[in-house]
Amino acid sequence: MKMRQVIFFASLILFMQCQTPESGEPGLVIQNARIIDGSGAAPQEGSIRIINGKISEIGKLKILEGDSVIDGTGLILSPGFIDTHSHHDGDSLRTMESAISQGITTIIVGQDGFSKLDLDFYFDSLSNNPLSLNLGSYVGHNSIRKKVMGEDSKREALPEEIEAMQRLVEQEMGNGALGLSTGLEYDPGIYSSTQEVIELAKVASAYGGRYISHMRSEDVALEQSIVEIIRIAEEANIPVQISHFKLARKSLWGKAGDILTVLDSARADGLHITADVYPYQYWQSTMTVLFPKRDFDNRASAEFALNELTSPEGMIIDQFDAMPEYQGKTLEEIANHRSEDPATTYIELIRLSQETPGESIIAKSMDEEDIKTLMGWEHSNLCSDGAPKGHPRGWGAFPKYLNMETGDPIEVKIHKMSAQAAENLGLDSMGLLKPAYPADLILFDPENFRDQATYENSSAKATGLKLVMVNGKIVYEDGVVKNVFSGRVIRR
Ligand SMILES: [Zn+2]
Repeated sequence: MKMRQVIFFASLILFMQCQTPESGEPGLVIQNARIIDGSGAAPQEGSIRIINGKISEIGKLKILEGDSVIDGTGLILSPGFIDTHSHHDGDSLRTMESAISQGITTIIVGQDGFSKLDLDFYFDSLSNNPLSLNLGSYVGHNSIRKKVMGEDSKREALPEEIEAMQRLVEQEMGNGALGLSTGLEYDPGIYSSTQEVIELAKVASAYGGRYISHMRSEDVALEQSIVEIIRIAEEANIPVQISHFKLARKSLWGKAGDILTVLDSARADGLHITADVYPYQYWQSTMTVLFPKRDFDNRASAEFALNELTSPEGMIIDQFDAMPEYQGKTLEEIANHRSEDPATTYIELIRLSQETPGESIIAKSMDEEDIKTLMGWEHSNLCSDGAPKGHPRGWGAFPKYLNMETGDPIEVKIHKMSAQAAENLGLDSMGLLKPAYPADLILFDPENFRDQATYENSSAKATGLKLVMVNGKIVYEDGVVKNVFSGRVIRR
């Protein structure tokens, strides 16, 4: 063969290999939509073809014989949302309606230091009985600490206990955990030293995992908590993510920019620090979380919490098994009813809840402008911190943020709910509309996609979401769950 022929055949073979195998194959096409691909790029008119659960082509596409077609005229097509801090796994139903009805196609659980242990067993059971959406998990520090130390956990761990915890982290990282999560404001994590956390985070780091943290304090000692997480990032050499970032102390309001300056300078020093944020002024947690010294009968501590951290009218009792008739009322209302001052009532409710466990409060502590500043940080992504019951974030966080006036264009908001979230989790090949990526996507009407959940009616479904697809299958359409379970387990 002459040299010229060799080059001709070689380039012909190369040309044939460059054709994607799907090319020319029919599939499911969504056409005439405004595509926002998750990268932050401006919307573009176009179509997308899906074959075997994956995106095969995107752009100006011709309809092929055998294609099934969905018309996206007037609608936005974007990646499905990735919720980096979710408690939706509290739902016993596999449909996960609270999440998918707000456009979430992936939830990350095992948050605040609490996870299932033996993730291998959990992941296997989900592979056999999939959910409507994708799920990944961290391994939780509180859960392993409890397993190792039992009831005797109100103290620092001994070296051999830390070693036992390290072995559990190692085991769960091997099972596919995304990294280590902590909830240092909760028991028993609150009793751990920073060094203990560093020793465990080092194990996650060795596996290429990450550290995600509900920090030791989000109010009284927020500044020290920032110092602590920076130290963990540095000494464990691990990417860290601040969970549900907030400034929950009145004297800190308006200072979000100052805190971001501290984080930016740590990043400039080479540390990898990111955050997730939810778009509400109210949080949800336990009644006791506002007592960092666990001095629940200390009147000064109760008064400080009610004056500086939240307020009697801003504290809604969501769950109270000791006296269910108090549920849905504010602390102020209950105190008035009991003819007591709010601090007395607060102390008494905590005492009752220790006799009859089962309580949860929704309380207002954040400033709207701080939320926008934290969310606007280029390394932040959106999360819900939501559950199927309780706080309206469980059903509304994502569309609420989409409609929030932040000054950011819609493609930036979509980016923070998709690709930025994937990046902050260290997940490749997710969060974008791009060939070879899983077909996790949503189609919505930008004028009408709105959250409806409120504090009074927290499980009202969002409107305006046309379609949700998970791994190429439609799981939600026009307000109806399809009982299609195409979610996959995301193992690191
Ligand atoms: Zn939390």
